[in-house]
Amino acid sequence: MELLKQRILKDGKIKEGNILKVDSFLNHQMDIELMQEIGKEFRRLFPDKRINKILTIEASGIGIAAIAAQYFDKAKVVFAKKTQSKNLDGELYTAPVVSFTRGAHFDVQVSTKFLGKDDCVLVIDDFLARGQALKGLMKIVEQSGAELAGCGIVIEKGFQEGGKELRQAGVNLHSLAIIDSIENGEITFRTDD
Ligand code: 5GP
Repeated sequence: MELLKQRILKDGKIKEGNILKVDSFLNHQMDIELMQEIGKEFRRLFPDKRINKILTIEASGIGIAAIAAQYFDKAKVVFAKKTQSKNLDGELYTAPVVSFTRGAHFDVQVSTKFLGKDDCVLVIDDFLARGQALKGLMKIVEQSGAELAGCGIVIEKGFQEGGKELRQAGVNLHSLAIIDSIENGEITFRTDD
């Protein structure tokens, strides 16, 4: 998605450990016009009319999924929670995740009330690096008995193994921008996406 790639080059900031900061337009301050274009692109890539739920993970996935949902016949957005909270009661689907950015282990949790065997789910997240977050969300879809329509990612770091592994496993995965390398402060995108 050219608009997104240009925005990453213009406003993305590279941090230690190959972390790309996109907090001026995606995951702190949010550029809604850009996010609407992201939502439309996800719809184009995932035209399956049966998609009725978009599953993501708090916090950064929520805004992206909420805007994308408007292009999916008003699909409901469900976000997995990372922390045990008193608001999270009843039966839960749970999957372990290791955070790439924080290095910590945590469980992602979704109430069984909001995902079940009659649902067709698109999983969305902001970044794909080693694939931990996506694998956790896919485990939750599997536990629920719902159908997985695919996984949509805004920015994939193609030099980390997650995307390759998931595609090899047959996951219907689309990333709107795939970064092939970050070297000497310079971002190179994959051109065949
Ligand atoms: P993974 O689980 O695929 O290793 O990492 C994906 C998760 O880690 C995403 O949910 C995202 O929040 C975070 N993440 C991974 N790499 C980056 C990065 O370069 N920048 C930012 N902002 N978040 C990242």
